[in-house]
Amino acid sequence: MNTPVPEYLADLLQNCKAAHGGELADYIPELASADPNKLAVALTTLDGLVYSAGDDDYEFSIQSISKAFAYAYVIEKLGLKAVLEKVGVEPSGEAFNEISLDQTDDKVKPKNPMINSGAITIHSLIPTTDSTDRAETILRFFSKLAGRDLSFDMAIYQSEKDTAFRNLSIGYSLRNLNILESDPIEIVESYVKQCSIKVTVKDLVNMIGVLVNGGILPKTGERIFSHLTVRQVLTVMTTCGMYNAAGDWLAAVGIPAKSGVSGGIIGVLPGQVGLAVFAPKLDRYGNSVRGIDIMQQMSSDMGLHLLEGIPSSRAIVNDEDITEVKQDVKVYKLQGVLQFSEAERLLRKLQDEDHGDNTIIFDLSHISLVNEVGRRMLLDGIDRLRADGHDIALVDPEHILPDAKTKLNFTPKIYEDLADISK
Ligand code: GLN
Repeated sequence: MNTPVPEYLADLLQNCKAAHGGELADYIPELASADPNKLAVALTTLDGLVYSAGDDDYEFSIQSISKAFAYAYVIEKLGLKAVLEKVGVEPSGEAFNEISLDQTDDKVKPKNPMINSGAITIHSLIPTTDSTDRAETILRFFSKLAGRDLSFDMAIYQSEKDTAFRNLSIGYSLRNLNILESDPIEIVESYVKQCSIKVTVKDLVNMIGVLVNGGILPKTGERIFSHLTVRQVLTVMTTCGMYNAAGDWLAAVGIPAKSGVSGGIIGVLPGQVGLAVFAPKLDRYGNSVRGIDIMQQMSSDMGLHLLEGIPSSRAIVNDEDITEVKQDVKVYKLQGVLQFSEAERLLRKLQDEDHGDNTIIFDLSHISLVNEVGRRMLLDGIDRLRADGHDIALVDPEHILPDAKTKLNFTPKIYEDLADISK
């Protein structure tokens, strides 16, 4: 059997070819002359398997998508507190290149790291060494995430540099307020170099694998970001990643995302999938028209909208799934998701168990997802049942409760041969 995912992605591209509209970014000739028909999509699974379709080897400049990764890098190096001192997290509702600063109490700072004033400030915080400047440092870091050596698009960099008047004016304003602490020209030039790094959609999904996977690079198992860093970046992507279209995006697509003016968009659904699309024509907010189309389609086809919620089997255990398989051996067949609300329901149900020395088996083989709170609460329930005199055993083929004492690590047939369990 072949997995249907590659065909699905190819169909997606085919179906969205009809979606026209939008304009190429035209503030530099290199972007204005891009091929408007290029179209690519890629998807990474939680364990780092990449599927892709269309022009998936075509390189384009990463542009503002770089802001999300630079933000994560700087938080990891300096700590969140120090970064928040410099750049806030309020959605601006303004264009990406607005000279936008937030006045809070006695402090003025860029509203968020996804608009240029914030991103230039974040770029200025990248630690350097004698031999490695900021842009080079970030290039190496992006290469590590992508799993191959990336490079700068020097033509785009040169053009951006020659016409960076607006970014320079942002830089000077930031320097004037001491938010930038050194030469604004150098910082802005280095920031646009960061934006010029060439990537494919496959590189982008490899890069976001680390955000999908809670900070750990799926292919190497190396921890790159703390949980807190990942959460912070995804939060800001959710509220500010699509600039002044962030509200529309959240309602329609509902995935933390970041777009760039060359036509790329990344989307990250933590613990599930990472998506990247590329199509150069942009809407008036600077987001890829076809890219949005494809992302919206994937979100609805795969049920990825963040606020759809994790489908909870509200009844973690139904009455008919609590069975007395033989005398003094009772089985609770649990199902679905085990988080706080389901665990609470389960513990409430267990309150009905009288003191006694019968055996209770929890069959966890139909649990699809468990979080830390769910795990802790179930373990606590087990301890309490033990304290009441019960013997407890688990059917736990997926090792959901690695710390539990008595386990029957097999898939249950009908529990007939359980005569001596738990003794
Ligand atoms: N290099 C561009 C800039 O800073 C990136 C903008 C973008 O992708 N939205 O102006």
